[in-house]
Amino acid sequence: MAAAALAKSLVGMQVHIRLIESARIGAVGVGEATIPPILDFIRQLGIDEDELIREIKATFKLGIGYRDWTRLGHFYFHPFGPTGPGMGAVSFPAYWLKMFLEGRAAPLEEYSIQAIAARQGRFARPVHAPNTPLNKLTYALHFDASQFARYLRCFAEARGVQRTEGDVKSVSLRPNDGFIDALSLESGERIAADLFIDCSGFRGVLIEEALGTGYENWSHWLPCDRALVAHSELAEAPAPYTLVTAREAGWQWRIPLQHRNGNGYVYSSAFSTDEAARAVLTTHLTGKLLGEPRSLNFTPGRRRLAWNKNCVAFGLAAGFLEPLEATSIHLIQRGIAMLLKFFPDRDFAPADIERYNRMLESEFGRVRDFLLMHYTQTERVDAFWNECRSIALTDELREKLELFRSHGRILREESELFPVLSWLSVFVGQNIIPRRYDPLVDALTAQKIQAKLEEIRNAVRCCAQTMPSHQDFIDRHCAWSSAADSKKALAAH
Ligand SMILES: Cc1cc2nc3c(=O)[nH]c(=O)nc-3n(C[C@H](O)[C@H](O)[C@H](O)COP(=O)(O)OP(=O)(O)OC[C@H]3O[C@@H](n4cnc5c(N)ncnc54)[C@H](O)[C@@H]3O)c2cc1C
Repeated sequence: MAAAALAKSLVGMQVHIRLIESARIGAVGVGEATIPPILDFIRQLGIDEDELIREIKATFKLGIGYRDWTRLGHFYFHPFGPTGPGMGAVSFPAYWLKMFLEGRAAPLEEYSIQAIAARQGRFARPVHAPNTPLNKLTYALHFDASQFARYLRCFAEARGVQRTEGDVKSVSLRPNDGFIDALSLESGERIAADLFIDCSGFRGVLIEEALGTGYENWSHWLPCDRALVAHSELAEAPAPYTLVTAREAGWQWRIPLQHRNGNGYVYSSAFSTDEAARAVLTTHLTGKLLGEPRSLNFTPGRRRLAWNKNCVAFGLAAGFLEPLEATSIHLIQRGIAMLLKFFPDRDFAPADIERYNRMLESEFGRVRDFLLMHYTQTERVDAFWNECRSIALTDELREKLELFRSHGRILREESELFPVLSWLSVFVGQNIIPRRYDPLVDALTAQKIQAKLEEIRNAVRCCAQTMPSHQDFIDRHCAWSSAADSKKALAAH
């Protein structure tokens, strides 16, 4: 992602970009769900979305279904997209909540076209249909992260990036200021540069092993430290959403791609053995297991400085927050966008670096709080979930919860990632119910609100019915073909 974005953005500058990757070490090979801003990244690169989807066997995602999370047998949906329209000074959440508290509103999902379409297995891109929910259809993608990386590698190479296959063996620092001077590869090649971008995964070969930047361990907030990952056959048409199911010691994901399901069980090693985790994962697959599950250990948290001296870390090298809300690839995208905003010259102005680090710290923190809310606000009674409820909240999250509990207010910091509908869906989905409604709503009569709610609900229902099935949409626009794949494999031989 970094090589592709820089190759595209720095055109015309006298900049030479090199990409070093090790086939021996390989990539982590997981990361299949995204959130809507990924489409901006793809469009900014000028990539044709349908072509990309076809190449990387992607599917569409309208949100996340949470099963057994609030309590066993419960299901709620966290859809993408905006909330319904406001009425004068009164926001949709405010007037919907009033009616909901009085038992006079339908469930929140019925006012979201993403939620209804997901439930019905439908998908369409937004169309120009002013004042209808079809205008604002919001989606992201499910894809195979390794294939996405390969696609972007070719994109970058076609724009002048020089790729070198090999292992970085050592890193030399400038004696005067400790900046990175050069990398030495196993082959003996020495590569000097002005700016180094560390995308080396959990180890952080440059940012940590060479620069000793330090890592903030957030496991006192986020209790899971293992993931078991497996592919399975598609037993049914791919659903246009990620399914997340809470389990005894964590949670399981199912991410449907065009050719298989991606599955994983994220769990706490303090509450489950690896054997028990394997049993949980494999007995809850919807299709036949393909290959052996793979185990990954991780420490949730973030690098103390994502940008240190002349090294900027992206991806797992910058930190890791579990994939419950599919935010890691997005944080890479944000890191790249902010690097371009504060792009350095050879002086590396400390003010730029400080600002960049503060912004990234804040983005990681907001995502952490959203995840923390998921973990701490449940009614499950397993030992793991009981312990989760005793996790100390951050001050920011405590304030958010209190504002919502008192009058249903949703506080979003400037440039915060998750929109109002995300917070509202997860609050209500996890049974966090305000004590009172926003007094401003009394400016509207109950009749007026009910008419508006009915209008939105009907529009959502009717518009959803015009959408094709997810599978039909893929077949019509961007279906992967196994024949094309075999042709490419033959050509590669
Ligand atoms: C269990 C799990 C599930 C996830 N699910 C999601 C998800 O649904 N959505 C999402 O957005 N994110 C998800 N992520 C995160 C996502 O996988 C990563 O953000 C993404 O794949 C980027 O990884 P990376 O490039 O930072 O690291 P890696 O994929 O580990 O790549 C590291 C690269 O550095 C190279 N390298 C390493 N050391 C050296 C060396 N010494 N010399 C030369 N090259 C080297 C490797 O060859 C490789 O190319 C998940 C992560 C995990 C662990």
